[in-house]
Order: sequence, then C-alpha cells, then structure tokens
Amino acid sequence: MLIVMKPTATARDIDAVVNVIEAIGLRAHAMPGATRTAIGITGNEGPVDGRRFENLTGVAEVIRVTKPYKLITLDLRPDKTVVRVGDATIGDSKFAIIAGPCAIESRDQASAVAKAVQRSGARFFRGCVWKPRTSPYTFQGLGEKAWGILTAIREEFGLKIVTEAVEESHVDLIEKHGDVIQIGARNMQNFSLLKRAGRSRLPVLLKRGMAATLEEWLLAAEYIMAEGNYNVILCERGVRTFAQHTRNTLDLASVPAIRRISHLPVIVDPSHGTGTAYMVTPLARAGIAVGADGLMIEVHNQPELALSDSAQALTLSEYAQLIEQVRAIHSLMTSDGEGQLKTA
Ligand code: PEP
Ligand code: MN
Repeated sequence: MLIVMKPTATARDIDAVVNVIEAIGLRAHAMPGATRTAIGITGNEGPVDGRRFENLTGVAEVIRVTKPYKLITLDLRPDKTVVRVGDATIGDSKFAIIAGPCAIESRDQASAVAKAVQRSGARFFRGCVWKPRTSPYTFQGLGEKAWGILTAIREEFGLKIVTEAVEESHVDLIEKHGDVIQIGARNMQNFSLLKRAGRSRLPVLLKRGMAATLEEWLLAAEYIMAEGNYNVILCERGVRTFAQHTRNTLDLASVPAIRRISHLPVIVDPSHGTGTAYMVTPLARAGIAVGADGLMIEVHNQPELALSDSAQALTLSEYAQLIEQVRAIHSLMTSDGEGQLKTA
C-alpha cells in the first residue's frame, strides 16, 4: 500500500500517517519528492485496509500496490533518486565514474591507478579488499591489510571508496573505512547480506546477479530499501548467456527498462559485462548513450600483471581515452546547457 500526500500536506500531517502505520505494527517509508510526499508501507503479509487512512488530513490518495515491489517504484517516488556521497553524486545530470583495479594489490598499484582516476575527474575509486573468486586457489584479496592502502588513497586523492562486502561482517569495516558498499553479482540474492546493507547508513551499489531477471534484481534492491536504506545504485554487469565471444552479455536494454519502473540510479559495468579489454570502451560508450547514470570501469597500471580480472583491465591511457569519449557523448546528450538529459 502506498499513501500519496497532497502537495499542501504538512510535516505534522505526514507524521500523523506514519504514526498510524506504526501503531498497526507496520513500517512506514516516507519519500519526499519535488511536488509531494508518498509513504510506502511494508511489513504486512496480507492486504492492509486502506480506508483507515483516507480521512486523515493531507492524504490525497491511498493506492493498493499490485506489483511485487513497493519502494523502488516511480509510483512511490516519481523523481529520480540522487545518491549523495559527501559532495559526490550518482543519479543527477552529471554522470558518475567509479573506476579502479579489480582488487587492491599493493600501495604502488593502488596509488598509480588512483592518480589516473583522479586526473580523469572521477569521484569514486573502486578496488576490492575481499574477492569472491570462482576458484578457492586464486587470489582472494589482501583482506584487512588493504584498508591501510585505501585509507591513504581516500586522503591523498579525495576519492570516495567503493568496495565489495562479501559477507555481513565486511559491512562493519566498510562503514568504518569506506564510502559505498558494493554487493556483487554472486551475492545479489544473499538476503541476510542485503538486509545488513539495508541497515547501513552508507549507499549500496547492487550488482545484477549473473542469472537474475530484472524483477529478481529489483526485489533484491527492495530488500535493502525495506530495511530503511533508500540509497541504492543498480549496476548492470551482464548476465550469462550462450554467447562465447564475451564473458557475460551486457544487457543494455535493462537501463531503459529500469527507468520505466524505478527511481533508482543505474550504472553500467562494461568491464565485467564483456571480460575483454578491447570491448570495454565501445560498451562504455553505449552505456552512456543508452542513458546510464554512470559507469564502473576496471583499470590497472600493469594489466598483464593483475592478480584478478587481468584480461578486462584497461591500461591507464586506454582509460583516459575512454573517459574523454564518454564525456563527449554525454555532453552531446545534454540539451539545454543546464545538464538535462534529452533522453532519460
Ligand atoms: C567486481 O566488481 O570486481 C566483481 C567481482 O564484479 P561482479 O560481482 O559483477 O562479478
Ligand atoms: Mn573484477
């Protein structure tokens, strides 16, 4: 159930509705928008009798939700969500770049890459502390030793740190030292991890599972939001198909498909989406052209020596070129000089 407040509703009117929702043992999610606030209700197993809300002051409409999701929808929030990480943003008219190596390997590697990332104008540095690897015998990440390196990068370059929580206890450490919690494709349906991230104050970057439908992916976002964390960024990173010319099939159609359903920002990861360096730049261009809010790019100072995802890592100069090209495309797509996307 969704309660749409009148544009004239006051904070007291909204509080009164929230109080009733909580008094009947349910959870209220008030989403203020440009023109009105809507309040989503979760926690009910069966239907909620909406009539009790109809006569409360400031209530415009009580809507029964027939879709499987409640909080990710444009019905609840017609304006796009802009995720703010300090002074950096994801979801507004500037496109966001999250770039860095697959994994943090050493201080020299991380700072050589971070320098290039900062020079490109990106605000987010990615680099895994813990790696969820297919084989137990391959590099699993430096683990907690990587935090010293990431803390230095954050201070020296002013970049926001994005890293993956492979298990729940990792969220505590990311909260302590990082800026954005990444949930990887392999964990998209790890429901206890999603709930833990949902109780965090940090934004969550939720990658699409490699066999996930759009609905499953959006329901995973719903798990996070249902716990009260509304700062979710969706990341299309490809799904497994019969194709053998790429590591995954990057499903660019998911970007407009999500736009039609959800207010959440969506970014594209052409690195994991293709698995091959020469395909990353063309697919990055396509990701921006299709209206994504940003890109996640893997880049390494010595790709041939990378301890994970070596084949898809761009060199520093390939990365710089990619950024130049996607910036040109993005500025072509902005119409009136005010940064409004003609497309989205
Ligand atoms: C990664 O971002 O390095 C990663 C492991 O990605 P994914 O979860 O999409 O495979
Ligand atoms: Mn990787």
